Amino acid sequence: MNNKKLLFVYLIVTVLLFSCSIKNKILVAVAKKTIESNLSANPIAKLPDGLHVVLCGTGSPFPDEKRMGPCTVVFAGQRMFVFDAGTGGSRNISRMKLNNGNIEALFLTHYHSDHIDGLGELMLQRWVSVGNSSPLPIYGPQGLDTVITGIMQAYSLDKNYRISHHGNATVPSTGFGAIPKSFKLDSATNKIVVLQDKDLEISSFLVDHSPIEPAVGYKITYKGRSIVISGDTKKNTKVLEESKGVDLLLHEALSPYLVGLIEESAVKVKRPNLQKIMKDIVNYHTSPEEAAEIAREAKVNTLVFHHIVPPLPTSLLEPIFLGNSKQIFSGKIHIGLDGDIISLPTGSTKINFSRLL
Ligand SMILES: [Zn+2]
Ligand SMILES: [Zn+2]
Repeated sequence: MNNKKLLFVYLIVTVLLFSCSIKNKILVAVAKKTIESNLSANPIAKLPDGLHVVLCGTGSPFPDEKRMGPCTVVFAGQRMFVFDAGTGGSRNISRMKLNNGNIEALFLTHYHSDHIDGLGELMLQRWVSVGNSSPLPIYGPQGLDTVITGIMQAYSLDKNYRISHHGNATVPSTGFGAIPKSFKLDSATNKIVVLQDKDLEISSFLVDHSPIEPAVGYKITYKGRSIVISGDTKKNTKVLEESKGVDLLLHEALSPYLVGLIEESAVKVKRPNLQKIMKDIVNYHTSPEEAAEIAREAKVNTLVFHHIVPPLPTSLLEPIFLGNSKQIFSGKIHIGLDGDIISLPTGSTKINFSRLL
């Protein structure tokens, strides 16, 4: 290689190394800015006063990359509540730049595993994110004490690791875990007000997820706006009764047709357990059309499906999932997706949809 060629190669290598180092410096600077902006973000602060629903998990026990386990955040003004703690829920809360540490209370609908399998993580994140000094209040029907005692037992070693590593000032031992606030529905009305405070009321009502008992839904009202969360249930009159005239009905939904396809495939590939489970799950959930009938009869403004069964890997399957729902209910129907935020500003009848993911 002559001198000219050597010089040329030297120049190219120098430029590449220099541009690599510049590129890395730019990347690090961008990463720093992004981290700062994520950590200081508060997407709720800029919203008007109202009820704001954030879908942190719209799936079911099925693995689904777009839909984590059942998890719904409800902001009443700036107060943050969570309904059900399915797997991935608290991670989605963080991904949406919301702070698990601000969760004021958690409400559970029932104790099927998909509704509590993210509970340990949610409880831990709520404790360590801001160093809460009192445990997370968890409301739920009978059976709650068993669940909370078990989760706290399972996390008892981790609790000590965290305190000895970070110190009591950062993770106060008094803030670890949860306080179970088990409630019993009124035997005459099958409902109960579980939280009432100024403009906010959260009540619980019995649903029909038989043989799983008890199973409940929740109604949240705040300054004239209202939401019903159905919980897991087959179509029943209690959800209809509680939903009458509400702004937003968040209803679970299972497509018997699509679940039937999985059942047929399970027969073909000789997986009898899967086939039996697919056959069984249809009878304690609500089809999208049945939920649409409830929305129509209750005259709700908007129907949002969550707890979507089975997974919908492509949006092309959505019309099949919905079946005739749109012919049954003339209001807005939306198939919930993790990251959706649905805002109900006070002093208005508006329902605004946007995304946090
Ligand atoms: Zn269930
Ligand atoms: Zn479920």
